[in-house]
Amino acid sequence: MIDKNGIYLSVDGDNAVRVIIENNIKIQTNRIKVSEELIGELEYDLSNYEVVLEHIIEETEPLDGIGEYSEEQFNSVSNMALELADGVRENDLTTGVLLRAAIYKLLDIDDDGTAMCLMTAMSNIVDALREPLDTRYILYKYLKSRGEFETHDKWLKTNVLPEGYFFRRDYPCEIINYDLFTNEPKLSQVFFFDNYTDYFVFLFLKFAEQQRRVLECPCCGKLFVPKSNRAEMYCDRVLVDGKTCKQIAPKLARKLKQRNDPLLEEYEKAKNRNYKRVERYENADGNSGVMRLTFNEYKAWLDKASEMKRLYLQGKVTAKEFGEFIRA
Ligand SMILES: [Zn+2]
Repeated sequence: MIDKNGIYLSVDGDNAVRVIIENNIKIQTNRIKVSEELIGELEYDLSNYEVVLEHIIEETEPLDGIGEYSEEQFNSVSNMALELADGVRENDLTTGVLLRAAIYKLLDIDDDGTAMCLMTAMSNIVDALREPLDTRYILYKYLKSRGEFETHDKWLKTNVLPEGYFFRRDYPCEIINYDLFTNEPKLSQVFFFDNYTDYFVFLFLKFAEQQRRVLECPCCGKLFVPKSNRAEMYCDRVLVDGKTCKQIAPKLARKLKQRNDPLLEEYEKAKNRNYKRVERYENADGNSGVMRLTFNEYKAWLDKASEMKRLYLQGKVTAKEFGEFIRA
C-alpha cells in the first residue's frame, strides 16, 4: 500500500479514514468528516497561489518565442512547481500532498529531451497546478447552488445531472486485507488518489449521497452544512474573540434591521455582481474581452467584505470606508 504517493481513503457515510503516503512513508492516518474536508477546502485563500502559478506559466514560454525549450527550463519549472506545492502543504496538507503526488508522477516519465517532449511535460505540470483553481470554483458553484433548491432531488436534477460528465471519472480502488476504520483483518475496499480533482470530486459525490443541505452564512459569507434540520441560519465558525457567527450574528442582524441602511443593500448587490463576474470569467475559458475576476480573487474579496460589513455594523469602520470598499 505504501509504494505510491497519494491518499488512500475509505468512506462510510460522512465518516472517512484516510492514509497519506509520501516517499514510501505513512505520514498520517486519521479520521475525517467528508463534509468538513470538502467545505474546509474551499476556505483556503489561494489568491497568492494563483499569482505564483501565472509566473510559472510565463516561464514555460518558448525561449525564442517560437519553439525552443531547454532542459534547464524544464528543471526550473518543475522545481518551482514543487516549491509551490510545498508552500501549499504548510497550510493545506491535503492539497499539498495531492499536488506533489501529481507532479512526481509527471516527472517520472521517459524524457527523450526533444522540444516537443519538454513542452508537453511542462504543460502537464501547469495543468496539474491549475486543478485546484478550476475544481474549487466548480465545487463551490454546485454547493452554493444547493441553497436555491428546497429538495436534494430538485438540485440534483436541475443543476448537477445535466453536467454529469464532470463527475464521471475513474476512481481507482484497491482491496486491502484490513479495515482502515478498525484495523481488523478484513478484505476491504479503499480508494486511491494522486490528484486534486479526483479526490475532491469523489468527496463531493460522497457528500451528495448524504443528501444534506448547504447554506451560505449571512454573517461571514461562507458555505456551511447545517448540523440538523432545524432552521440554522448561521455557521459555527469562530469569527472574532472566540465567538462564532451563531453567537454574534443575531445581534448584528438586529442592528441591520433597525437601520434599513442603503449601504447594506449596496453590499449585497456588490456581492452578487462580483459573483456573476466570476461566473462569466470562469465560463469564458480564457476568452479575452471578459473582465477578469477569478474565483479565488472573489473569495479573497468576499472574506474581506464580510469582515468590513461586521466592523461597520459594530461601528469600528465608518460608512465612508465601508462604502469605498464595496465600490472599489
Ligand atoms: Zn459564518
